[in-house]
Amino acid sequence: MVAQKSREIRLGRRPEGMPTRNDFVMAETEVPAPGPGQVLVRNIYMSVDPYMRGRMVIRESYVPPFQIGEALSGGAVGQVVESDNPQFKRGDYVSNFSGWREWLVSGGGDLQKINPAVAPIQAFLGTFGIPGLTAYAGLLKVGELKDGEKVFVSAASGAVGAVVCQIAKAKGCTVVGSAGSDEKCGWLVREAGVDRAINYRTCGNLAKAVRNALPDGIDVYFENVGGAHLDAALANMRLHGRVAVCGMIAQYNDTALPPGPSNFINVLPKRLTIRGFIVTDYASLMPEFLRDMVDWYRGGKMKWRETIAEGLENAPDAFIGLFKGENIGKMLVKIGPDPAV
Ligand code: NDP
Repeated sequence: MVAQKSREIRLGRRPEGMPTRNDFVMAETEVPAPGPGQVLVRNIYMSVDPYMRGRMVIRESYVPPFQIGEALSGGAVGQVVESDNPQFKRGDYVSNFSGWREWLVSGGGDLQKINPAVAPIQAFLGTFGIPGLTAYAGLLKVGELKDGEKVFVSAASGAVGAVVCQIAKAKGCTVVGSAGSDEKCGWLVREAGVDRAINYRTCGNLAKAVRNALPDGIDVYFENVGGAHLDAALANMRLHGRVAVCGMIAQYNDTALPPGPSNFINVLPKRLTIRGFIVTDYASLMPEFLRDMVDWYRGGKMKWRETIAEGLENAPDAFIGLFKGENIGKMLVKIGPDPAV
């Protein structure tokens, strides 16, 4: 096969504050024909994730920054079109970390086969992928959830949050989630089965709303947002409560440091544990996580929503939409043909 034309999105400049379309550049490249041992993959879905915002600036972090003028990267799922690698055959579905581009050639080491009989392939970017593992590790290992506890989850209808809510329900917990619209809150109660959902944009005083929903307080707070949500959670934590700090999306676009939680002193009398974590530290849990997830899904205990933008050219808007709450569930971009499954 000859070289394949492929479009990709590059970082044009480092965003300041909320990213804009002008921070991104579309380019066309030629992907070489696969050489010995190599695989040609056509991406079908790519993921946009909040953590990518951190990679767009230069600062000390657990992942290196994106370089200006280079293609962005991130999770994607696609199909093998040509293979000279005995581990992959034409037609296999694979996940990879070369999102933001339509085609890629790989030696195979960065590809994982995915089984479309388990779940739709794009679910391996959401509930069955890194967001799902993040929820699992964060709630069970970092938050040390015990059956029957009281749980509060922020960004609860999102890719990570929705899985957190449903794992906690599967463990017999009382679960309250917060989200930014009535539609999201309705889905959380009706489909995800949470006990109460709080629309933080319309509820007035968030700490009071949490107290009304969980009068006995919170054992585990799963933190996705930060800011006013952390204040509200700290005010309502129970003795020996745990806060699993997964993300603080409310401040990813801030250009100055926000004020600290005004009520941090709660940590002391309530003997709280506040622990941050990065999902890659828990990569070894993947097989156990997938076993449990398949059981929950087949048992009707795991549901999800997806918001899908069409076309690589719309990936920047999909990414920016994460910070405006435009997604219900996992935000994805469809960049290839329909999978044949
Ligand atoms: P989501 O699918 O939850 O999408 C982001 C959501 O965050 C939006 O839809 C919006 O929902 C909410 N949001 C955005 N801006 C604000 C704001 N200013 N205030 C309050 N809510 C806001 O994303 P993910 O599930 O992929 O990620 C959730 C969190 O988990 C993020 O903080 C992310 O960085 C973190 N994360 C951390 C990982 C780790 O290893 N520690 C791994 C993966 C994710 P709404 O309308 O409800 O406000």
